[in-house]
Amino acid sequence: MRFIHEDFLLHTRTAARLYHQFAEAEPIFDYHCHLSPRDIAQNRQFKNLFEIWLEGDHYKWRAMRANGEAERYCTGAATPFEKFQAWAATVPHTLRNPLYHWTHLELKRYFGIDELLDEKSAARIWKKAGQQLATPELSAQGILKRFNVAALCTTDDPTDNLEHHRALAASGLATRVLPTFRPDKALAVHLPAQFNAWVERLEQAANMETHHLAEFLEALQKRHEYFHAYGCRLSDHGLSRCYADFCSPKTAAIIFARARRGKAASPSEQGQFGAFMMLFFGRLDAVKGWTKQLHLGPLRNNNTRLLSELGADTGFDSIGDYPQGTALAAYLDALDREQALPKTIIYNSNPADNYLFATMLGNFPGSIPAKVQLGSGWWFLDQKEGMEWQLNALSNMGLLSRFVGMVTDSRSFMSYPRHEYFRRVLCNLIGRDVENGEIPNDEMLLGPMIRNICYANARQYLAIPDVVVGAPKALVKPSNLTPGQRRRRRPDL
Ligand SMILES: [Zn+2]
Repeated sequence: MRFIHEDFLLHTRTAARLYHQFAEAEPIFDYHCHLSPRDIAQNRQFKNLFEIWLEGDHYKWRAMRANGEAERYCTGAATPFEKFQAWAATVPHTLRNPLYHWTHLELKRYFGIDELLDEKSAARIWKKAGQQLATPELSAQGILKRFNVAALCTTDDPTDNLEHHRALAASGLATRVLPTFRPDKALAVHLPAQFNAWVERLEQAANMETHHLAEFLEALQKRHEYFHAYGCRLSDHGLSRCYADFCSPKTAAIIFARARRGKAASPSEQGQFGAFMMLFFGRLDAVKGWTKQLHLGPLRNNNTRLLSELGADTGFDSIGDYPQGTALAAYLDALDREQALPKTIIYNSNPADNYLFATMLGNFPGSIPAKVQLGSGWWFLDQKEGMEWQLNALSNMGLLSRFVGMVTDSRSFMSYPRHEYFRRVLCNLIGRDVENGEIPNDEMLLGPMIRNICYANARQYLAIPDVVVGAPKALVKPSNLTPGQRRRRRPDL
């Protein structure tokens, strides 16, 4: 039997039936990813497997380094094919790592390749994949169509002018491509040089000066409105843990003013400023009906030597062991007390926090089902066991049937089979329970639940707009908008 076969990961007949009947054909709503909007707008055609698969993939670099490959083959000066060969030589050593599954699932789904990747097959696979990458079916937009991606949300800085999102909204592309507001840089008063450079970009984007905190907040609100006009309905924050040392506007204004003068905030001041800003962002999201995502807990940039050589996000991060509970509860509660808690999805980096986070959901109910959500297995937990842990914690502490499901969180266009992978894991768990007699063998009960977790829950929960109206008139002259941007109907979503 081929390695990636029809019933891969589906260990019972019921699991296979549920997957093929209810999960397989559902569209994808990839509401958190890091794909380049430019690549989508320009319909990038990838030259080879390196460009689409290895470029920027720190998961693969980590495995290659662990296997003793030189940095030259990861981020260095080797040619694309040499880097691919080094990756291929590493693949057999990744057995039982999720990379082994992802690699072969991706080769199968994109190129119909069943051969296992290793040093010997590398050149053949490079050639076969390369030929197909030259076809329109495997351009950036072709891939979105092939994988039935109904919508995806990129991750964007508030200073971004969203030109590619604007072009995409006008293009009639069947996949909705919407931005996500990620204002992490607005909290960095402890790094004044970086902070001030970013505030200057914010001033340009918002077309106003920000001498005082009140103006800084106004500029951010203008950008939030601008993003809203382009269909943004999600924000995202990457934090070690929630900020909960709340301070007065006066204190926040003093910390802001000092940072603007180039004086670094102390760790406690940065914590106070972070807490102040996170309440502000929470209120903005609540007013507009957005969903806030909190990615909590990684311990980043642990290798000083390689950080200075290669920069951040190159594969030197770990799971952090921060105490999360008290601060997370305090943050959600502070917003809830003033009726300003938006819909919120919390992702944990540490599996030890699965149950803690899952028990946080029920503390803050709203007028919609599962207003606070436990995000899908993230980063180091985005693998079979991690997904099962997340699904089990959510099932035991909350309502699995209301789960908004999987995201790729990926920088690569080769990651769409992760949704298939998740759906197989989900159906395998449900199928096992059915065959154990622990849940009823009732398709009317199970079918809709599976379908909803795959797609409909996310669609309903995130409530992205049918119409993208473009930027507010004050920010973009109406004459700059195409008719499609003024009123683009998307009956499907
Ligand atoms: Zn992410």
